Amino acid sequence: MKAAAAPPRALLQAWDRKYLWHPFTQMQDYCAERPVIVTRGRGHYLYDADGSRYLDGVSSLWCNLFGHRKVAIDQAIRRQLARIAHSTLLGVTHAPAIELARRLTEIAPSGLAKVFYSDDGSTAVEVAMKMAFQYWQQAERRRYRARTSFLTFTNAYHGDTIGSVSLGGIPLFHGLYRPLLFTTHRAPAPYCYRCPLNLSPESCQMDCVGEVESILRRRQREIAALVMEPLVMGAAGMLVQPAGFVKRMRELCDRYGIFLILDEVATGFGRTGRMFACEHDDVRPDFLCLAKGLTAGYLPMAVTLTTDRVYGGFLGRFGELKQFFHGHTYTGNQLGASAALATLKVFEEERVLRKLTAKIASMRNALGSLNDIAWVGDIRQAGLMVGIELVRRKTSRKAFPWKARVGHRVCLEARRHGVLIRPLGDTIVLLPPLSITRAQIHDLVAAVSASVRAVAKGG
Ligand code: PMP
Repeated sequence: MKAAAAPPRALLQAWDRKYLWHPFTQMQDYCAERPVIVTRGRGHYLYDADGSRYLDGVSSLWCNLFGHRKVAIDQAIRRQLARIAHSTLLGVTHAPAIELARRLTEIAPSGLAKVFYSDDGSTAVEVAMKMAFQYWQQAERRRYRARTSFLTFTNAYHGDTIGSVSLGGIPLFHGLYRPLLFTTHRAPAPYCYRCPLNLSPESCQMDCVGEVESILRRRQREIAALVMEPLVMGAAGMLVQPAGFVKRMRELCDRYGIFLILDEVATGFGRTGRMFACEHDDVRPDFLCLAKGLTAGYLPMAVTLTTDRVYGGFLGRFGELKQFFHGHTYTGNQLGASAALATLKVFEEERVLRKLTAKIASMRNALGSLNDIAWVGDIRQAGLMVGIELVRRKTSRKAFPWKARVGHRVCLEARRHGVLIRPLGDTIVLLPPLSITRAQIHDLVAAVSASVRAVAKGG
């Protein structure tokens, strides 16, 4: 049967304005702009209803891994669809969720032996946080029950639900919700370009580690876990941490006897050049939160992995009420699990990680060409995750007024160069699919270069 033709573009645009409320979007501005209406995707490109083609420069919000309509994943989902799309994991089970859990414990850092499913990055983090909290509440030693708060970094981002906003919280978009949030302890984020301790790379002895330790020393009795993104804080502005920082965090957590929760929602599944970013420092967390790339960008699915020790803290007779009271409707559904299993197979069969080294080097080379642009203040790269911070003055590192929306203007201009990207404030983000070719990396950076120059020329 032939698919029904989509309504014409003009009508879709009118209905979009009339009926839809887009996330993280000032609708008043959005409605004045001409939207891209994606009708299909193929490989690393998205196609608009008007026939335009765009390179998917941020992997459809950091989740696509192997391009669109990857045959192996399309087929896995179709095969699963012929059996069943979804049945619950509350008290019953099924093969795709079982097999995926087993595979994930095989590829995750050792010690992560149990897999808890949920639906997106925010819930993966909520789950870890609630598990850590409940674990200490159920601990035999009474004094551990005071461990009810969390240590996080300034400007961290862990999702948009109230718990994950409490852990993170970027003042500009989350400040308003402050009365709804629980308080956390915050250490300054390692943001080397604008070091919160006013150090330079030459004078840096990773004093920011000392800041974390000083909070732990004072508050260890009440802290349940340290929560962080390893290697690079994505939504905070692609802030790349100094080498060895994650290892130092693991050591501190061990010294003060608290859990380490690693949020690898953005950094997981090859983005930094290794399967998981914590592998660069050979760190084993107590909780690992994964989503986005888990299904190669096909379906919403997330997991929180943890240790036998944590799992053991929830075992007991029914009447003790130690079970983990948490679970979403679509948790671990068959379609998502099949897509994730197919994703892991692609990693293996196509040697995805091995091929990344050359691409990461190409990206580094290409980015070098941006250094002579007056507005380019800092270029940060971890694997294929890139942040290009635009500034008004290179020498003083003076930022643009945020209301000038320079980053947004550059990304709108990039569309004219056939590239779809989305900024974080005035930091231009490049986060292409892992399967991007070296020629496409070149095209992507060339489009950004042309766009920044064009916007800069216009003032
Ligand atoms: N953690 C990190 C590090 C993220 O980057 C994101 C989303 N960008 C989330 C959590 C939240 O994920 P989701 O949008 O799927 O809820």
